[in-house]
Amino acid sequence: MRSPIPDYLTEVLDVCGGDGGGELAAYIPELAEADPDRFAMALATVDGAVYGVGDDDVRFTIQSISKPFAYALAIADRGLDAVLEKVGVEPSGDAFNELSLEVGTGRPFNPMINAGALTVHALLDDERVRRGFSAFAGRELEIDEDVFTSELETADRNRAIAFMLRSHGIVEEDAQAVVEGYTRQCSLLVDVKDLALMAATLANGGVHPVTGQRVVPHEVTRHVMAVMATCGMYDAAGDWFTSVGIPAKSGVAGGLIGALPGQVGLATFSPRLDQHGNSVRGVQVFERLSSDMGMHLMEVPPPARSLIRERTDLPGDREGEGWVFELQGSVNFVGMERVLRTLADEPPSEGAVVLDLTRVHEVRDVGRRMLLEAVRRLVADGHDVTIVDPDGMLEAFPDDHADGDVDAGGGVEVPVLRRR
Ligand code: GLU
Repeated sequence: MRSPIPDYLTEVLDVCGGDGGGELAAYIPELAEADPDRFAMALATVDGAVYGVGDDDVRFTIQSISKPFAYALAIADRGLDAVLEKVGVEPSGDAFNELSLEVGTGRPFNPMINAGALTVHALLDDERVRRGFSAFAGRELEIDEDVFTSELETADRNRAIAFMLRSHGIVEEDAQAVVEGYTRQCSLLVDVKDLALMAATLANGGVHPVTGQRVVPHEVTRHVMAVMATCGMYDAAGDWFTSVGIPAKSGVAGGLIGALPGQVGLATFSPRLDQHGNSVRGVQVFERLSSDMGMHLMEVPPPARSLIRERTDLPGDREGEGWVFELQGSVNFVGMERVLRTLADEPPSEGAVVLDLTRVHEVRDVGRRMLLEAVRRLVADGHDVTIVDPDGMLEAFPDDHADGDVDAGGGVEVPVLRRR
């Protein structure tokens, strides 16, 4: 069978391909030369499938789409607290090149506007940026020297912002050098597949879906995607998040990315921009994908049916001596709450209790803590508890395992069987 997904994506491009209006970014001379009719999109899943359609091999400069990735690298290198000291996480509601600084601290409002991005760049060096971005993309990225030169020649506004940041003590490095480095960062060349994979690396908790390389720690990606959701679309962020609901970032060369946590990275390229500086047709494609494919962060799959799949008698010659609770799906708060409720409302009568995780596909930290609390209470009630965990779901928390037992806390050790 031929996959229908590229056909579907091509159809989306066709539907959104009309001349939706908009203008090329004129303030960077080299960008004003771009072919306005280029149109491409790509989708990368967190398990490494990549689909590209339209002009998906055309390269363009990353521009402001570099901001979330530089931010992620800075947090990975310096720690979140050190970065938060310099740049806030509040939507400014202003245009990207506005000098929005917090009264009192002088911190830029967020890292997605230029003031914040210049500050973030000052925390990195050029080679770290190029190498880090290449790891996000999964291939070596290069700089478009012509765009770089053209943009640097006309970067007076960014220079003004950088000098202003220095006057507030937010940037301590040489202002000119920071603008130069930031402009270089914006001039890295990518195509939509690179961008989709970069976004998919964020969506995948920091591990590149194809190379398998861990690029940044998991907790960094949650933070960065949250800032993209609230500040990624400049002064259109609220409108964007309600209608599309995908953490996103746009760039003036016409790129647009979206990262849907745990699912996909998306990217579009179409150089004509709306008055906010966001790609006109890119926005249309995202609106379409969000509504067609239910890709809105506020639209989550309904919680699994009961986490308890079945309650059965102990097998074989132990029949009648206790109960087996076969769990399924994701052991998270909502699922475990139901298990705890069932155990409280219909407590097993005397005897053994087996908690069988064979059909569980994920154990969240909170779910593990709730499971162990259930174990402690069952033991306190006089039950003889065993956990069956053939896939070693609990081993993701290695501290728990001592000689095949789980330390449930409070002096309670529970045997864990790897086989039913
Ligand atoms: N390099 C551009 C600037 O700083 C990026 C702006 C954008 O992509 O929105 O002006």
